[in-house]
Amino acid sequence: MAKVLGLKCRECGREYPIEPMHVCEFCFGPLEVKYDYDEIKRRISRDKIEESPKSLWRYIDLLPVEEPKVGLSAGFTPLKRADNLGKLLGLENLYIKDDSVNHPTLSFKDRVVSVALSTAVEFGFDTVACASTGNLANSVASHASQAGLNCFVFIPANLESQKIYGSLVFAPTVVAVEGTYDDVNRLCSEIASELQWAFVNINIRPFYAEGSKTLAFEVVEQLGWKAPDAVVAPAASGSLITKIWKGLKEMVKVGLIDSMNTRVYGAQAEGCSPIATAWKEGRDFIKPVREPKTIAKSIAIGNPADGIYALQVTREGGGDWETATDEEIIEGIKLLAETEGIFTETAGGTTIAVLKKLAQKGAFRRDEIVVAYITGNGYKTMEVLDNHLRQTVHIKPSFVDFKAKILTRV
Ligand SMILES: *Cc1c(COP(=O)(O)O)cnc(C)c1O
Ligand SMILES: [Zn+2]
Repeated sequence: MAKVLGLKCRECGREYPIEPMHVCEFCFGPLEVKYDYDEIKRRISRDKIEESPKSLWRYIDLLPVEEPKVGLSAGFTPLKRADNLGKLLGLENLYIKDDSVNHPTLSFKDRVVSVALSTAVEFGFDTVACASTGNLANSVASHASQAGLNCFVFIPANLESQKIYGSLVFAPTVVAVEGTYDDVNRLCSEIASELQWAFVNINIRPFYAEGSKTLAFEVVEQLGWKAPDAVVAPAASGSLITKIWKGLKEMVKVGLIDSMNTRVYGAQAEGCSPIATAWKEGRDFIKPVREPKTIAKSIAIGNPADGIYALQVTREGGGDWETATDEEIIEGIKLLAETEGIFTETAGGTTIAVLKKLAQKGAFRRDEIVVAYITGNGYKTMEVLDNHLRQTVHIKPSFVDFKAKILTRV
């Protein structure tokens, strides 16, 4: 018996065989992987998972891959109790799911890419590509080197230099497009329809997106097989949030937990918040943001592909959407670093800023289990911190100078 039955249109329900395709030929709705949950229920158990490798592949029974081909150590990142930050926010059970240390490229994208490229290899592609806000490009480039695949990554030309080096080092072709991410994505959709390349977030997107579910699976396992009361996660295309929700529901469906009652909270940067704005205005459709204006470039997607499904998550399970200004994002980065010793990038700063706002609004009960998803590493967006940190103190290599410049200050 196969665990994967095919692809299914989210809108009209029409089914397709397992192929590198992502939209329904009849209604243009997005396709999603369809599983045989009865078969998975027979295969999966807590014991089997706990004995499996400490990577996201311990959840292979719920992923559309038969045999992992690449990215063998992605996932199973720390779930850190955040008592210092929790105390400040009035939360007794706050946790940080820390994908800033994901392997190999320090963002949650290593999850989706290890799944996508394992699929691409199974499909027999020799060239992989992506449209990226930075982290995806880093991860695709790294995994393509591991797998010996040709690689092209497309990014908006104005990305942080650390993110660009983080791709270039793996020697893919980096194409810097003069435009927004949405321009890049449009161009890539056109290229994908012309060439036989695996664009991880376009033509093999249904498989790519499944990797995000492991962020839900791992948190539940790490909490001792218990779903959190609330999670806070950033949204760019809205895929991550949609899949965290799907993952939680699947755990109940295959019997890993009896029930879950998790509220999902979405975080966006104020300068590019098409999903949060739709939520606040009570709309069930997205008005694209033409020109994103935020330092949180990794989540600056003006026309989010999964925006309407991300809205459905908060409508179905409860929760809310909030935004953070650039100033608040930097404060969020600093707050997490100063309280918990974790250095996150701007997307994580957005999550922490929104977590703080929500806590102040009374979104959480004091004793609830709240998990904040930190999805990327601060070493990749260091330039945003220019002029926002304490200065280094320069001294001569002498004890006298040390005394004069340092000891007189303390
Ligand atoms: C891509 C990305 C996200 C959001 O991903 P979506 O699935 O497109 O919503 C969040 N955080 C970081 C750091 C990212 O790189
Ligand atoms: Zn359809």
